[in-house]
Amino acid sequence: MELQTIVFMVGLGFGAVLLLSLIFGVLLLLLGVVVSLVFFKTRKIIIPNITLPILNLLESPIRFLLWKVGVEEDIVSNLIIDLRNIRYKDQYIKTPYTERMVFLPQCLRHPKCPAPLTEEGIKCLNCGRCGIGILKEETEQLGGRFFIAPGSSLIKRMIKKYHPKAVLGIGCSMEVKEGTAVISSIGLPVQGVKLLRDGCVDTRVDMIKLYELIKTPPKQRYNIHDHLSDLKRAMEIASLWSDTSDTRSKILKHNK
Ligand code: SF4
Repeated sequence: MELQTIVFMVGLGFGAVLLLSLIFGVLLLLLGVVVSLVFFKTRKIIIPNITLPILNLLESPIRFLLWKVGVEEDIVSNLIIDLRNIRYKDQYIKTPYTERMVFLPQCLRHPKCPAPLTEEGIKCLNCGRCGIGILKEETEQLGGRFFIAPGSSLIKRMIKKYHPKAVLGIGCSMEVKEGTAVISSIGLPVQGVKLLRDGCVDTRVDMIKLYELIKTPPKQRYNIHDHLSDLKRAMEIASLWSDTSDTRSKILKHNK
């Protein structure tokens, strides 16, 4: 075969591979956009096992295309968080309480929180101004570790120090998306709960979701009685962020 023919054939093969990769990339991009739009409209997640790697790979162009058609950019982050939660929920729940670690952001504290900053984050004094003290106490009674993190470096340090087998983290959408990516990349099952109202101070979280993740027992599913009683308890704890001192002391007494 002549040299010119060989060069032509190689060029043709290379061009065909390039074209196929381009078509494949565009198809993945379109799939990512469609799945995100379905999530935006219906909050339903389709083909979660395929969608998560696509979004991980093409997050920026998908986010850009959605922004172009007027869809809020946060929708992609929220979808990634939900997909990762679905992906790791069973593994997280199967982990014994004693191997779980919980990280709360410092902005969830009451604005007048008296807790000092220590080597292991902000040390809650269970003063009753917010519900964090009760969450910490109940997590520790079950055998888990609980931290209030002033920043992401504490999370890395505590994981390195205590070697948990599963992690639960709370934060704003961006923090939860990035934090869960890092934690899952080191092989730990992770669950992330987004703040309902974010900002730098006096934020709020979906307490029912958070409390359920703290309390769901390993190896077995919730029985309906425990589930209902935990639901009630979660609502009581949530009310500590807004209630009067009377209600507060009633709820705190429950723990004594
Ligand atoms: S209960 Fe809330 S406000 Fe009180 S010390 Fe703990 S984190 Fe701070």
